[in-house]
Parts: sequence; C-alpha cells; structure tokens
Amino acid sequence: MITVPTVAEVRRVCDDTRRAGRVVALVPTMGFFHDGHRSLMRAARTEADLVVVSLFVNPTQFGPDEDLDGYPRDLDGDAATAAAEGVDILFVPSVAEMYPEPPRTTVHVDGLTDRLCGASRPTHFDGVATVVTKLFSIVGPCRAYFGRKDAQQLAVIRRLADDLNLPVAVIGCPVVREPDGLARSSRNAYLTTEDRAAATVLWKALSAAADAIGAGERDAAAIQALAESTIRSEPRVRLDYAELVDAHTMDPATRLDGDLVLAVAAFVARARLIDNLTITAIGAEVDTDLGVVAEEQTA
Ligand code: AMP
Repeated sequence: MITVPTVAEVRRVCDDTRRAGRVVALVPTMGFFHDGHRSLMRAARTEADLVVVSLFVNPTQFGPDEDLDGYPRDLDGDAATAAAEGVDILFVPSVAEMYPEPPRTTVHVDGLTDRLCGASRPTHFDGVATVVTKLFSIVGPCRAYFGRKDAQQLAVIRRLADDLNLPVAVIGCPVVREPDGLARSSRNAYLTTEDRAAATVLWKALSAAADAIGAGERDAAAIQALAESTIRSEPRVRLDYAELVDAHTMDPATRLDGDLVLAVAAFVARARLIDNLTITAIGAEVDTDLGVVAEEQTA
C-alpha cells in the first residue's frame, strides 16, 4: 500500500489502472477505522483491481459548533488497518490540497438534504456532496463504496451521481454492528461506559420495529411510533428524529411500499448517533435488514 497526499498522483495511478483495462474502487472515509470501514474495503477488494481509500476529515461538512477539532484521528493505526485489508492507495490529502482556495463552487442536492439530519445539520450535506463530487472527479470512473448506516448520505450521493452523469457505480453496503447491536461509528469513541450502554437503545428501537414488521405490523405510523417511544424511554438519550422515509427521496412514507428506511438519530451526551433499518416492501412481502451484528469476542 502507498500513502499518497496529492490529487495529481492519485489521478495518475487511477488513469494508468483504467488504461490497462482494470477496475478502480473508491472508499471515501474520514478515518479512525472500525469494522464498518473495513467491510467497505473488503467489498471493494473483492470487486476491483485497484482499491483507493480516501481519508479526509472534510471541514466543510462540519457546522460551526460541531466536532471538527475533536474528531478522532489515528493516521498510523488507519494505515496499518488499510494495509491489512489489501488497500492499494491510502489517499490522505491536506485541507490545502483539497481546497487550495475557498471553493466558490458547491454541490447542493435539493430536497433530499433539508430533512432528517439536514434539519439539525443545515450545511452538512452540501459539504458531503461537494467533497464526494471532488473525490469522484479526482479518482475518475470507478466503483464507489458507502455504508448504508448513513442512509441519507447514500441517497444524496446516488442522486448526485445520477443527476450529474458521473461515471461512478455507487454501491451501498450493510450496517456493521457491535456484538450488542450498536452501529459501529468513529463517534462511539466519545461515549462513557454508561452512555455506551444507553446508546444501544437505537438498536433496540430498530429491532423492535423489525420484530413488529415480522409479526405482521403494516401500519407505517405505528412502526415509526414504536421506534420513537423506545428511544424516548432511555433517559440518557435525547431523540432527534425517528422517521420512516422513502430510501431514495427521503420523503415521509405513509405506507409500507417500495424501498424504505426507518431512520433514527439521537444525542447521547455530546455524541450525535444515527442508525437505520432498511425495509423492502413488494406487495404483501416485507423484508427488513438490520445489517451485520459482530460475534462476541472470546478471550
Ligand atoms: P466516515 O468515516 O464515518 O465518514 O464513514 C466512511 C464510510 O463508512 C461511509 O460510507 C459510512 O457510511 C461507512 N460506515 C460508517 N460506519 C459504518 C457501519 N457501522 N457500517 C457500515 N458502514 C459504515
């Protein structure tokens, strides 16, 4: 694996790879790797010849009062993890490399970005959409891997790639979870032992909804209310939202029909955690997908 700090060098290697008839994969990240990131690297490794992982804590997607400065970082550990996963290029640009000048051009995906996380983080998705468009432009035609944990982000990126005819196949990968169901997140590092235990209420809420659907519940409002009341039952956790939405448009879903997401967000002390349940409803057939729960490690 090589660590590359410049746009020009990443672009050159990706161009050379495609010229040789080989497939390029991109995994965009903000680092502090965990099993969620690893799962994306593994998917990329099995489906492409050259795996590029970008590690960039993108300042433009953080609001003024958010955790940009305190965001966890571990470049050496991340490089070791990426190398162990067979990554070819770890692209680690500086802020000056990505934004030599304050950008006057930004990407805004209308409609999908004002609700859910966009309501409490109004500038977040413009930052994400812009930096991901830049990464797609730097790497060029590729397969790009994203976690379904960030369901709204995935919908935004799919839409911008479609709207702008970007030569990128966007691939969504399952949510990877701790043995107790908590979705892996770099921000879990902010949690105390008590908060860490309380945070599992997000998983409990989504599991309760999946169980209810499995038992025949088809009332969208009732499913959403069950998730909401479960999260509200945990006093250490402050609910931001629990909403059943269309997976592509992020519009509220009033019926179980098509590709849906039960998306939840909550504050646990200073950490804002998100999670979701994928629901696929075709006629009377309704499937739910909570992702992958890791097995308990035994010493
Ligand atoms: P981040 O470094 O948090 O920006 O995440 C980089 C990528 O990893 C994004 O596509 C996330 O959706 C994905 N990701 C983060 N956590 C998980 C998880 N628990 N399971 C699957 N993918 C994840």
